[in-house]
Amino acid sequence: MTARPRGTVFEKIWSSHVVTEGPGGHVLLYIDRHLLHEGSTHAWERMARNGSRMRRPDLSFATADHYVLTTPGTPTADAETRKMVESLTRHTTEQGVTFFGVGDDRRGIVHVIGPEQGLTLPGILLVCGDSHTATHGAFGCLAFGVGSTEVEHVMITQTLWQKKPKSLRVTVDGRLGFGVTAKDVILAIIATIGAAGGVGHVIEYAGTVIRAMTMDQRMTVCNMSIEAGARAGMVAPDETTFAYLEGRPFAPKGELWARALAYWKTLPSDLDATFDREVTLDGTEIAPTVTWGTSPQDALPITERVPDPARAADATRRESMERALAYMGLTAGIPLTEITVDRVFIGSCTNSRLDDLRAAAQVVKGKRAVVPAWVVPGSGLIKRAAEAEGLDRVFRDAGFEWREAGCSMCVGMNGETARGGERVASTSNRNFEGRQGQGARTHLVSPAMAAAAAVTGRLTDVRTLRG
Ligand code: SF4
Repeated sequence: MTARPRGTVFEKIWSSHVVTEGPGGHVLLYIDRHLLHEGSTHAWERMARNGSRMRRPDLSFATADHYVLTTPGTPTADAETRKMVESLTRHTTEQGVTFFGVGDDRRGIVHVIGPEQGLTLPGILLVCGDSHTATHGAFGCLAFGVGSTEVEHVMITQTLWQKKPKSLRVTVDGRLGFGVTAKDVILAIIATIGAAGGVGHVIEYAGTVIRAMTMDQRMTVCNMSIEAGARAGMVAPDETTFAYLEGRPFAPKGELWARALAYWKTLPSDLDATFDREVTLDGTEIAPTVTWGTSPQDALPITERVPDPARAADATRRESMERALAYMGLTAGIPLTEITVDRVFIGSCTNSRLDDLRAAAQVVKGKRAVVPAWVVPGSGLIKRAAEAEGLDRVFRDAGFEWREAGCSMCVGMNGETARGGERVASTSNRNFEGRQGQGARTHLVSPAMAAAAAVTGRLTDVRTLRG
């Protein structure tokens, strides 16, 4: 019997997936799960031209999320976007890959439906041609985004050459205060370590605050690991993880479940495991947080003011702050709560799950949106579950649009964008220039904070609306 690997949860998963070692420190890793969306089109087309077949189509699962319109009741698209979805439908059928397509309630954002279907499991190595694949690490698996060429490599070989990243543990201890959520935690982490703070590392999130989170909340945290530059983010699996997974359609059943559980319990980092770097935050000090600039690291507690570039640590930072403020149309020194918004977007693979919709609905209940506000559930099943709880009625009564599942205005590939100059309070993960539409200005916030902005028309400390 081989001794089980020791070390961090990342090292345990990494070492158990090494097939062989290659030159330059590269190793060939076995891939357990490959998730696909419309973005895989080029890889499919190259394979079709070369007459290549997928090695393990049974380990790949596809969904249509980026290009499908989320217009209520009509998940259709224009000719160009329809072509992308039709291409995915054709290739998955030809190669025998399970596809959650339009009309299937299981369809949704790839990083939402993987966990929802029990495809994302502790200890596995999961890849997807998408930056926010780190989301799945919330289950104690190693999950990272890959490029189009790598997608094709995985399709044909079920393996991938990689160099081993370093490890970084981010510990958040203490307790979150009233109105403070997982989104605020990850924005505070990125503001602390910087948008490049995780480069070359896999982050393990630990501490009492992370342990107390639901799986939906842990996914929010892991989702934004890439915004700190990290290769992946993960949380060691525990009873919360197991309870979420038990009974999911593709999770192991019966004897296989018992065996899987026994293995999963060996995965958490050993007490004497060491990390290349450690960062600690006090969760008690985290406030509802909002971004003011064009990088997720440009985040501050809502009680603060727009920062002054003149006080930047160096000239490079000063210039980037000046550029960000010019793009965002903001003046240094004004309170963040005085910034008015034109539009609110609640959705994306960061914040479109049931916990997120519940948190937003709690703020919205009995109030009216004073700006256009969209709620885009992460999957058809989440939409249905939210409707069973009456959340759709809360949003509709408040004047919100209750839409179909998809990526929507997170990136706007389907044409659902904000207009130039519009200021959006958004629960998504990127606030880069033009991310939500050319000239659109994005403020990243939690679902509760987005809901607060919708009913007041400005960035608002959600704690002042509740209680
Ligand atoms: S919701 Fe946004 S970040 Fe997530 S997969 Fe879709 S486009 Fe990418």
